[in-house]
Amino acid sequence: MFAEAVRREFEPHKYQLFGEHSRKYMLLQHRKLIWQIYPSYLLIIMAALAAAALYISSATEKFYLRETQQRLEAHVKLFQSMLQEPFSPEQQERVNALCQTFGSTLGSRMTVILPSGQVIGDSMEDPAKMDNHGDRPEIQAALTDTIGISTRYSYTVKRQMMYVALPLKNNGQIAGIVRAALPVLTIQRALSLLDEKIVVAGVVIAMLAALVSFGIAYWINLPLQDIRKGAEQFASGHLQYRIYPAGSQEFMLLAEAMNQMATQLHDRIEQITQQRNELETMLASMVEAVIVVDQEERIVRCNQAAGKLFGFDVATVKNRSIQEVIRNIEIQRFLKATLNSQKPVEESIEIDFDGEQYLRAYGTLLKNGDPRIQGALLVFHDITRLKQLENMRREFVANVSHELKTPITSIKGFIETLQTGAISDLKAAPRFLEIIARNANRLETIINDLLSLSKIEQGEDSGQIALAQNNIIDVLRAAITSCAPKAAEKEIAITLDAPETLYGNVNADLLEQAVGNLLDNALQYSGPHSTVHVEGKRQDDQILISVKDTGCGVPAEHLPRLFERFYRVDKARSRNLGGTGLGLAIVKHIVQAHQGTVTVESTVGKGSVFTISLPVIENA
Ligand code: ADP
Repeated sequence: MFAEAVRREFEPHKYQLFGEHSRKYMLLQHRKLIWQIYPSYLLIIMAALAAAALYISSATEKFYLRETQQRLEAHVKLFQSMLQEPFSPEQQERVNALCQTFGSTLGSRMTVILPSGQVIGDSMEDPAKMDNHGDRPEIQAALTDTIGISTRYSYTVKRQMMYVALPLKNNGQIAGIVRAALPVLTIQRALSLLDEKIVVAGVVIAMLAALVSFGIAYWINLPLQDIRKGAEQFASGHLQYRIYPAGSQEFMLLAEAMNQMATQLHDRIEQITQQRNELETMLASMVEAVIVVDQEERIVRCNQAAGKLFGFDVATVKNRSIQEVIRNIEIQRFLKATLNSQKPVEESIEIDFDGEQYLRAYGTLLKNGDPRIQGALLVFHDITRLKQLENMRREFVANVSHELKTPITSIKGFIETLQTGAISDLKAAPRFLEIIARNANRLETIINDLLSLSKIEQGEDSGQIALAQNNIIDVLRAAITSCAPKAAEKEIAITLDAPETLYGNVNADLLEQAVGNLLDNALQYSGPHSTVHVEGKRQDDQILISVKDTGCGVPAEHLPRLFERFYRVDKARSRNLGGTGLGLAIVKHIVQAHQGTVTVESTVGKGSVFTISLPVIENA
C-alpha cells in the first residue's frame, strides 16, 4: 500500500493524464497527515496504558494480599502464643471470649478449631452453629504442623476471605488450630477503584495525545508546506525560486537538495536553449536546405532554405511525413538510399519544381550513439545556378573556339597556298596577303573585345571600377567623334540632344566605349544617308542615354538574347561587316558596373532604339 502510494507520489505525470477530477479523487483517498499520526499515537499510548494498568493492578493485588497475609500471620502468631502452653480444649468459654476480644481489637476474625474440626471459638459467629471445619485447606495444612494459608469464599460470613492457620500444641501434640481471617473484598474494591482511575487517565491521555499529534502534524506540515510550494514553483517552470523551510535539519537538507536540483535544471535548460538557438541560427543562415527525418520518415526539423527550395511552409510541416510534404519521386528515392546505406550518400538530383533545378544531395544516417537508426539528415545544395554558369562557360569556350577558328583556318589556308607557289603569282599574292591581314585584324579585334569584356567583368565583380562625376554630354560627344569617320563613310548624320549640365557618377572611358559600341552598331545596321540620333536626359532619378537609328531593326524573337556573348541575328552578315558578336555584351557589362540597365526596342525595317539607364548617385 505504502509502496504504491510512494510510486504514485513519484509518478505525478500519470495522474496528470487523468486530469483534475482524478487528482481530487486521489487526494480524497490519501488521508491527512494528522489522521495518519493520531491513530498510531493513540494506539501506542492506549497499549502502554493498558499494560501499565495490568501491571499496576496485578502488582497492587499481590502487594495487598501479601500485606494481608503478613498481618494475618502476625495476628495468628500473637493469638497462638496467647493460647498455647498449656492449651486446654475444655475451656471453650474462655477461648471463645478471647477470640472475640482479640478479633475486635485486631480487626480480624479469629477462630479456634479442634483437630477433629469442631469450632470452639469464633470472633464473629456462634461456634455451636458452625459446621465442622476439618476439611478446610488451611486447617488440613496446620494439622501437618505447617502454616496453612487459603483464600476462598466463606459460607459462614458470606464473603471472600483470606485465612492463615497455625497449630496449638499441648505437650508437643497438636491440640487445636488457631486461625485468623480477613475479608479480601476491600482489596478488590480498592483495585477496581484504581482501574476506574486508570480508565479516566486513559481518556485524558487520549485527548492529550490528539492535541500532541495535532501539534506534531502541524509542526511537520509547516516545512512540508514550504517544500511543497517550492516544488510547485519548480514544476511550473520558476526554477529561480528558492525554498527556505522552517523546522528540522532533515527538511533543511531536503530543501537544499531541491534548490540544488532546481539550479542544475535551470543551468541545463539554459544550456540546451542556447544550444538550440545556436542550432536554429546556424540552420536559418544556411544556404543549403536541411531536413531531419525520424525512422518513420516524418520531418523532425528543417530550415527556411528547405521550405524555399521545395515550396512548403516550415511552420506547418513538423511531424508530417516527408512523402506528403515533398511530392517528388527523386527525393523519396534518395531518402530510401540514405536509410538503406550505412555510409553517407552523395548524389546529384534533377527535380522539376519551379522550373528545372539541379541539386547536390547529401544524406547521413542519424544513430545517436545507438546501433538502432534514429532517422536521417538530408542536405540539399541548389546547384542550378552553378550548372547554368557551367553550361554558359562551356558554350562560351565553344563559341570562342569557333570564332577564332574561322580566321585562323583562313590565314593557314592562304599561307599554305602562298607556300605552295602562289607567292610567285604577282597578281594573286597581294590579294592573298590582304586576306591574311584582314583575318589577323579580325583575330585581334575578337581578342581585344574578349580582353575588354574580361577586364570589365573583373572590375564589376571586385567593384574596382572607378566612378566620378562627369559631364554626360562630354562623354557622348567623345563617342560621336570616334565614330565620325565611319558615319562620314556612309554619309550618316549623327545628331545629339542632351543638356549641357547633365552630370552623372560614371566611368567616362567605359561609358564612352558603351555608347561607342551602340553608335557603331547603329551605323553598321543603318542604310546610307540616314540619321542616327543620340539623346541624353534626366528622368526622375535616372540618367537615360539612347541611340536611335532607322536601320533594319531586330526581329522580336531575337531581342531577349541580343546581349549574350557571340549572339548575332544574322551570323554571316555580322561577320562580313566585321562584327565580333561581343559589342552588346560589353555594353551590358559596362552598364551593370554602373548599377544600370540597358534595353532595346526595335521594329524590323523601321529601326532600333537602345537605351542605357543609369541611377543618379549624388557625388559621394
Ligand atoms: P556584332 O559585332 O555582330 O555587331 P553585337 O553584340 O554588337 O555584335 O550585336 C549583336 C547582334 O545584334 C548583331 O549581330 C546584330 O544582328 C544585332 N544588332 C545590334 N545592333 C543593332 C542595330 N542597331 N540594328 C539592328 N541590329 C542590331
